[in-house]
Amino acid sequence: MDCIFCKIVNGSIPSEKVYEDDLILAFKDINPATPVHIVIVPKEHIASVMEIKNEHKNLIGHIYIKAQKIAIENGISETGFRIVNNCGQDGGQSVNHIHFHLLGGRSLQWPPG
Ligand code: AMP
Ligand code: ZN
Repeated sequence: MDCIFCKIVNGSIPSEKVYEDDLILAFKDINPATPVHIVIVPKEHIASVMEIKNEHKNLIGHIYIKAQKIAIENGISETGFRIVNNCGQDGGQSVNHIHFHLLGGRSLQWPPG
């Protein structure tokens, strides 16, 4: 499948990994929007939030549990952070493999533009 995040998961495209287990991979965003900008992806190809099935409930929960650990290890658990999932065109999703941006290291504006 011609999916950039599947290629990062299978190692055919290099990435700067910060966490990996049997279900998920987290790596540094190539174009960071914040001082800490980590992308967390399931190893399974799921296109977007709209493709999440009941069988993925454990996987999605696992992503949030591990986001805590990744936030701690990258020094943003106490200052705070944002977890962002963009979905579809208006959501600004550019890679059609579900992913969660872990953003921190500075104060973030709200609401988004
Ligand atoms: P989104 O716009 O929500 O689909 O987010 C996709 C993110 O993937 C963007 O923040 C990109 O900078 C990031 N990205 C794209 N290609 C790579 C890559 N090869 N390695 C790391 N991050 C990437
Ligand atoms: Zn994929």
